[in-house]
Amino acid sequence: MITKSLFQQFRPCAKRFWYATHRPDLAKKLSPDQLAYMKIGQAIGELARQNFPTGVLLPTGPQEMALAHTAVAVEGDAPVLFEATFAAEELVTRCDILERNADGTWTLIEVKSGVRVKEPDHIEDVAFQAIVLRAAGIRIRDYRLMHVDRDYTHDGGPYDAATLFTSADITGLVMEMIPRLTADLEPVRAMLHQEEAPAFEPNTYCRDCDFRENCHANLPEGGLWKLPGINVNSVRKLASQGLRVIDDVTTAEQLSPSNRLAYRVISGQQDFTDPDLIKQLERLPGPIGFVDFEAIDPALPKFVGHHPYERVPFQWSLHVIPDADSSQEPEWRDYLHTDVNQDPRVAFAATLWEAVQDCASLVFYSDYEVATLKMLKDAGVPYGQELYNKFKTVGYDLYKAIKGKTYWTSFNGSYSIKNVLPAVNPAISYKSLNVQNGAVAVQVYEEYLDPTTSDEKRAAIVDDLRAYCQLDTYAMLALYQGFRAAVPGWAPANA
Ligand code: SF4
Repeated sequence: MITKSLFQQFRPCAKRFWYATHRPDLAKKLSPDQLAYMKIGQAIGELARQNFPTGVLLPTGPQEMALAHTAVAVEGDAPVLFEATFAAEELVTRCDILERNADGTWTLIEVKSGVRVKEPDHIEDVAFQAIVLRAAGIRIRDYRLMHVDRDYTHDGGPYDAATLFTSADITGLVMEMIPRLTADLEPVRAMLHQEEAPAFEPNTYCRDCDFRENCHANLPEGGLWKLPGINVNSVRKLASQGLRVIDDVTTAEQLSPSNRLAYRVISGQQDFTDPDLIKQLERLPGPIGFVDFEAIDPALPKFVGHHPYERVPFQWSLHVIPDADSSQEPEWRDYLHTDVNQDPRVAFAATLWEAVQDCASLVFYSDYEVATLKMLKDAGVPYGQELYNKFKTVGYDLYKAIKGKTYWTSFNGSYSIKNVLPAVNPAISYKSLNVQNGAVAVQVYEEYLDPTTSDEKRAAIVDDLRAYCQLDTYAMLALYQGFRAAVPGWAPANA
């Protein structure tokens, strides 16, 4: 049977759909990010149901049982059904909310945790359900999409489901989508019955694909997706010209300008470090601070007066060296907001403003820090404006400085700090930490804020978050030192 999520795998790569349906055992476990996303989706779904007090929640266990319960409920008189399951023509789906109309038709309501209708994804999602329900003999009068209202303001009490959501009538868009999607489903059904895996079609989804090890087992090394930032349209265009792996490319001019440096590095096995980068790093005035923030953007606001998805920075870390040539140990400063009853933004900004007073340069990796300060400034948080001005004036974005201008083979296809750091300084590792990335930092801070979390657990979370953020800025200092010590221009690859 084809579910919505299986169909979504077919869109980018038919082979991935084949693996997902024929070899699901090869799929990796869900990542902490994916699990957290599912958890918030469930919480939003439960809140949305509060708007339908007469609704009946149907069991979602084994498919046969769920289908049987739904069939009985449809024949009954419940005005609203939650999680009704339908199957027809090799498709299966579950509906968030089905509202019974007086004329025997139904209104299908899909609940989304975002703040707007996202086209075409959300429309396709509902159209898939529409196709299954129609084939199962259910008459739908209209389709609605219920999503979080960005203007909702949290008053500190239980979330008010009546004002937390807004909904849009998407009937016209769904009706338009149904014929197109019906046609698109034909090859998907055919693939379900295909015994052999389809041929490999080069794309960029291989980067994060669970099935890559098996799928690429007999393919030549060096897929085009290893060029950082290359998009799927470029990969497909190159494939149509017979260029399927990096070795098939004969001159850099066959690639777009943004991919040429990485191609030259990979094909020549020579790393390239932009000489201007080294000069810029040498000239940064001291004291130099290396700074990083952690923040939550919760769908369900945690503090009084906050709105859904409002960014709330709760932690900063700063390593400071006196000047570019200093051999002194860096000084570490940090702040982690631990008062669960107070908006973290005020103390975050005040302590950070104090901490960066002596810094003549501030180094960060990506525009996340400046964007966060802009939000604080716009929200009128004290010192938000001053911090924003300072970061705009003396800030140095190391990511922006290297992206597309410096490339080492050991970056392994990405300028993410998680790829660049081990290339520049393999001795630094997050592996011994309990918190190893920003997504987990967000989750554990949300656990910290949870009123049911014990004091003992909270103390452990504080230690874990401080250790993580400390390493993040120490790593940035290590990147700075590593690039400063690199051979300018072309150098033999060290990987
Ligand atoms: S590794 Fe690439 S080609 Fe293979 S299934 Fe995954 S996305 Fe498709």
